[in-house]
Amino acid sequence: MAFNSSKVLANSNLAAKSNVKVLQTFPQKDLDAQGGRQKQADDSKVAKTESKSIVEQIKENIRYIFTSWGKIHDIVEKATDSEKLEIVGDKSIMNKLLSGGRSSIKNQILDLLVDSVSDVDTLIKFVDKRFGIKIGANWNVITRLFLIGQKEVPFGPEGVKGVYKVMLRLPEAHVKKLKALVTTGKDAGNSGLAMPYIGRIGIDYSENDMGRVETGAYTNVGDKMRGMNMFDTTLTHELGHLVDQNGRYSGQESFRKISGWKKHGIFKPQKIADEVINLVQNAIPSSFTKKEKELSREAAKFAVIGRIKNVEKTRSYLKLVYNKRFLKKDGKGEGDARVYSSLNDLAEKLKVSPLFTHLARANADRSPWYYENYSNVGPRQIHEGYPYRGWWSYDSSARSNKLSVYQFRDPGEEFAEIYATYHMTEKKGERLDSKRREWFESQNLHKM
Ligand SMILES: [Zn+2]
Repeated sequence: MAFNSSKVLANSNLAAKSNVKVLQTFPQKDLDAQGGRQKQADDSKVAKTESKSIVEQIKENIRYIFTSWGKIHDIVEKATDSEKLEIVGDKSIMNKLLSGGRSSIKNQILDLLVDSVSDVDTLIKFVDKRFGIKIGANWNVITRLFLIGQKEVPFGPEGVKGVYKVMLRLPEAHVKKLKALVTTGKDAGNSGLAMPYIGRIGIDYSENDMGRVETGAYTNVGDKMRGMNMFDTTLTHELGHLVDQNGRYSGQESFRKISGWKKHGIFKPQKIADEVINLVQNAIPSSFTKKEKELSREAAKFAVIGRIKNVEKTRSYLKLVYNKRFLKKDGKGEGDARVYSSLNDLAEKLKVSPLFTHLARANADRSPWYYENYSNVGPRQIHEGYPYRGWWSYDSSARSNKLSVYQFRDPGEEFAEIYATYHMTEKKGERLDSKRREWFESQNLHKM
């Protein structure tokens, strides 16, 4: 796991990379001009006492008001790994760096030092200073509200570094939308939750499993997101929801066209039922009488309203239709043996019909997008996306080019998966098909 983790670090746009370069080119430079860095020389003929330590060099540039951050940056940029440990171990330097206003030169210094920090509280301050993101629920009331009913898992150093590195790879304007981040479980990026209106994200996380890659939690074999880092992509996916607040991107017609999304909503249950009847082949068996077909269609409306999840409930929705149609106003039709024996007969046939099998299977609580095409559906899949937030359909053919199976929950989820897939590959966008990549770039979502 540690290996994977460091691989991820090496792939990202990190300070460590440029340090290596500096060290390699250093011997060509005038050592004296760098302030006596005899550590870089072949031997240590120059007495150590003649030179100032890296900490002293930095402190010379720290002032109450006019601190020379540019000079400090140049010193830090040339520091060895062990010198960086000295720097981050010096409280007064860290206090100065982590207090006061933000600036791009200070940001660059933070980027150079973050890998050398092992203390989690200091790392949390790094993320706050660098990106304006509060980590953990102790910071304020709104974040604590976010955690109601969930247990916070305190971040460890690897987790906070992971957050830092993901944010470095994303456009600054997008990162600014995230105000606070909490952990809600231990499953290494297995799931996350975004609250765009308050700029908060909750994410599952495991300190010892930061290198975990996707092996089937969200994908089938061959999907484009298979093998990507779980924590990085889940965090980026959730940030994608913040960027997409109010469907700013996923609500666009040009986006919905790609997978053929169509909204069926929630407020017209008979229309939704009719759409299912239309899309599911032989939804109502042709052997039904005209009367039975009518009753089935109306029962389907009640099943949509009631969010049927189990076909055994078919009878209760059919009964609502019977009650409406056959009950006398005084309620005495309830005991009518003739009506109820036919109700039972029809319920038995209806519960195994493609219509009711689909209605129950398409319930959001049963995560239908993972299993589609699971019933007799033709060229379009149809299901409920989020409980009480309505039904969606999309072109079945879109699944042949999929990033993940989760992408097909609703357009907002597809956008979030595209956002994560685009930004979390070494060469950005390389895993996306040309249609989705071109759309993404046409919206300037790739610009750093
Ligand atoms: Zn999501």
